[in-house]
Amino acid sequence: MVCAQNDPVVTVCIVNGKSDVLLSSTAGLKVIVDKKAYSVSAQEQLSFIASKTKVVWQERQLVSSSFRVTTQGKGFILVNNLPFRGSFTLKNERGNLIVINHLYLDDYIRGTIKMEINPHWPEEAVKAQIITARTYAVKNLTRHREQGYDFCATSHCQVYGGVNAEDPITNKLIDSIKGFILTYQNQPAGVCFHSESGGCTDSAFNVWGKNVPYLVSVYSPWENDSPHAQWEVEISSEELTRALQQAGFIQGLIVDVQAQPNSGEQRVSKILIQTTLKKYQIPASKFREALGYDRLPSTFFELTPIKKTLIPAKPIIKPQATLSPSSSVSENLGSNNGNPGYREMLDKDWSLDDIFTFLSLREQERQKSNSSRMKQSSPPKPVERFEEKETLETLHNPETLYRDHSKYLFRGKGYGHGVGLSQWGARGMAMEGYSYQEILFHYFPGCEIKKARFK
Ligand SMILES: [Zn+2]
Repeated sequence: MVCAQNDPVVTVCIVNGKSDVLLSSTAGLKVIVDKKAYSVSAQEQLSFIASKTKVVWQERQLVSSSFRVTTQGKGFILVNNLPFRGSFTLKNERGNLIVINHLYLDDYIRGTIKMEINPHWPEEAVKAQIITARTYAVKNLTRHREQGYDFCATSHCQVYGGVNAEDPITNKLIDSIKGFILTYQNQPAGVCFHSESGGCTDSAFNVWGKNVPYLVSVYSPWENDSPHAQWEVEISSEELTRALQQAGFIQGLIVDVQAQPNSGEQRVSKILIQTTLKKYQIPASKFREALGYDRLPSTFFELTPIKKTLIPAKPIIKPQATLSPSSSVSENLGSNNGNPGYREMLDKDWSLDDIFTFLSLREQERQKSNSSRMKQSSPPKPVERFEEKETLETLHNPETLYRDHSKYLFRGKGYGHGVGLSQWGARGMAMEGYSYQEILFHYFPGCEIKKARFK
């Protein structure tokens, strides 16, 4: 990392896994390879391709493991016709090109910030986001060290789009708070941000199991006009089962889901799942990840079962049984022969014990009904034995015979993991006249704002 007036040079991988790349600059280029420098005029476009293990500069037929490309004067370098600040290194990585952009930290922030926040939002909210993004970058400088650069250009780090992603408004604001970052005990803070908290942020401990003194739950009552201020999502038991099975969290079919709120806080911390096989406890953030972040916008919700009906996946009574054609299972469920048993259970919430009680009561009723039928008509086939076998199968393997068709209503607020700075909260605070310092100290309690120092 090279130092220049407290604005270090960072490296960002902007092309990875391509076989060729085109470079040019209106200021002309300088190519440095194996300690020799070559000047290239402004009109010339350079083509580099990957060989098996090296990089080839096609116009000069030069082969090397690494090329450095800078401008001859002031101007951007066009990489595949997109403009970037700073200079470049081209390398070979497993038979493909990687193109690494070297540029000042704040120039990198210029090319990321518009992807994170609307430049036309109130200035103090945008400044709070800039300081959060700069702090995040400083804290994560070593993230891709093993690959030979600081950041990738995707959402894994921050989405970086070069000069085309810049905005004059955010560029001006970046300069106005140059070098400032959030610190905790004189070290860069491990900040994070999200779109909308829904009225109350979450702690890093609840979401990631990590205790961070300044990533705690705080109220955020400035988000009433945010797009996800209130939301409702209906999710079927089948979809939940499928998503949680695919994530490897559960086995068996879901028969009950409950949300467990944090003690003293309003967000959900754990989801309790009862399947046909076992009880599970899943962190709410993992539950949301398994369902998909867009499917379940946040972990700030109330959970209500809409309807829970257990329907046999196949009839208990097979056609060859001695019952008349009209004696289907559903009719058995609906008949009322005075037994106070299972029919009343259809209206209640079901646990696994309820399923077994239901099966046993229905079995009793069916036996009664069968014996009265057998008195009327003949053939004494081994009905009871057949049914006994089916009941046993049901008890030992309920999931093959029963499917839970219930749905759950998630009624929630906010969008995102909910930890750290709420962008819509910051916007609301700025609209009420709070400064970027007040915004940051609210969402990161205990932190300070200081000029970053680089060795
Ligand atoms: Zn990355």
